[in-house]
Amino acid sequence: MAEKGWTRRNFLKKAGAVTVLGTAGALDIPGDVWARAGTYATLIDLTKCDGCRDLEIPKCVEACRVLNEKRFPVPEKPIKDLWPQKTHDDWSDRKGVFHALTPYNWTTVQRVSVDGEDVFVPRRCMHCDSAPCASLCPFGALNKFDDGAVVINPDLCLGGAKCKAVCPWHIPQRQSGVGIYLKIQPLPAGGGVMYKCDLCHDRIGAGKIPACVEACEKRLGEKRSLFFGRRDEILKTARARAKEIGGEIYGEKENGGTATLYVSRVPFEKIDAKLREKKAAPHMGKARSLMQDVNAWAGGFVLSPLVMALGALGLIFHERRKKGNGKEGKEDEK
Ligand code: SF4
Ligand code: SF4
Ligand code: SF4
Repeated sequence: MAEKGWTRRNFLKKAGAVTVLGTAGALDIPGDVWARAGTYATLIDLTKCDGCRDLEIPKCVEACRVLNEKRFPVPEKPIKDLWPQKTHDDWSDRKGVFHALTPYNWTTVQRVSVDGEDVFVPRRCMHCDSAPCASLCPFGALNKFDDGAVVINPDLCLGGAKCKAVCPWHIPQRQSGVGIYLKIQPLPAGGGVMYKCDLCHDRIGAGKIPACVEACEKRLGEKRSLFFGRRDEILKTARARAKEIGGEIYGEKENGGTATLYVSRVPFEKIDAKLREKKAAPHMGKARSLMQDVNAWAGGFVLSPLVMALGALGLIFHERRKKGNGKEGKEDEK
């Protein structure tokens, strides 16, 4: 399947082109220039998800783990510390953890109680239309594909975790002691490989639906919580469902629009407040498009990839300061 028009490489090309064409202070870039929706999307209907609470592990989570087991990292031990952080990330002795996103668990189901009602929230990569992780990875290790999937290439990833830093939900997770950085040491360019959901990109290419969606459908049939299809149809379904239940949609606007949409009767603001109370990640709050912020920031300059990258890093730094170095949530405690 072809890469989307706004992969990092094309981003750089486009940015270069704008540099040549533009004049300082005169760039007029439409706000949605970074957003290019893919063909497909997922809808997660929170009114229907029961968290598979009668099972040891949710079916969607289990299906993802089984499907991707062969792609999970096998680190070389002892694992050396990253430089200059003097630390490393190692989940290899906690492969069984399924109530958090890890390099060995690419989807998880959060649980919160809102006004006495249990709400179960399946989480994984949102597959953003204007994915900052793909646009800003310094090594071009992430790509946004035409089908909507944002995919990490483990053969190119050095584990520098920029993708996690620029992701509003901090989705990608690092495993140290694996990947090409081992071969190019002592270059201190990262230390490991980042892992996350790839929307079952290969399965979609083979005409199949994502494994998690299939597993939910097998268990619940018509009453399933997960739906996969053409983005326009999924969006139509989400809007109709929101109207029917007097609810809301999450993912249509967040971070400039995503290929993972949620519909819920319980306000997302309340779900987010409970998640934050539990220090559970990922959050479900506001997620303004970083790429649009960068665009606005760089708009008064002759645009260049360097300016864009600096803009992104400046914004991240600014956000972190605002949050008082806001600690990320720990594992979602069930
Ligand atoms: S999405 Fe479906 S499979 Fe996953 S926890 Fe909810 S009901 Fe279970
Ligand atoms: S949710 Fe995060 S990791 Fe996934 S595509 Fe969006 S920015 Fe990238
Ligand atoms: S889409 Fe595929 S990779 Fe992503 S959570 Fe579902 S099963 Fe896992």
